[in-house]
Amino acid sequence: MEWGRRAAIDLEAQIFQSDGKSLGELSMRRVAGVLDDWFKEQGLGASALDFSLSSDGCLVVELQRSALSEASLANARDAGEGGERCALIAGCLSALLSHVGGRRLTAREVRCGVGRPALCSFLIVSHARKAQLDSLLEAGERDIRTLAERLSPRNAAR
Ligand SMILES: [Zn+2]
Repeated sequence: MEWGRRAAIDLEAQIFQSDGKSLGELSMRRVAGVLDDWFKEQGLGASALDFSLSSDGCLVVELQRSALSEASLANARDAGEGGERCALIAGCLSALLSHVGGRRLTAREVRCGVGRPALCSFLIVSHARKAQLDSLLEAGERDIRTLAERLSPRNAAR
């Protein structure tokens, strides 16, 4: 994903200026803050990282869509492109978090624009679990906790 890679490089430069560190040297808490600032800067809304499933090797990123992103989704050019836009965001998260984590990670949007305010939920797993995650999503599984359980290395070992 070209956009994701470029965003990762931009962020890296910004962080090096502000923190004097590379993205990979930051604490996850700081990374969460950096991501949130970046999402807001892009007019995408507020984000939160959820580490509660980390024992299953999964990370959840929730993006609360801003009024701005809702407005741009509503205009003619972007009509019906919500999925496309969120796929780009997922690509960006994959690139960024792989960089931070020092290994290949895959982000997939699990739920798009659910609730009010509209939340998009992204699940991040190791690249090795990408195919398994994709087939679960294709089968229609959209519950994050269930997905994390199915993908957990503890369950795969059985
Ligand atoms: Zn979405």
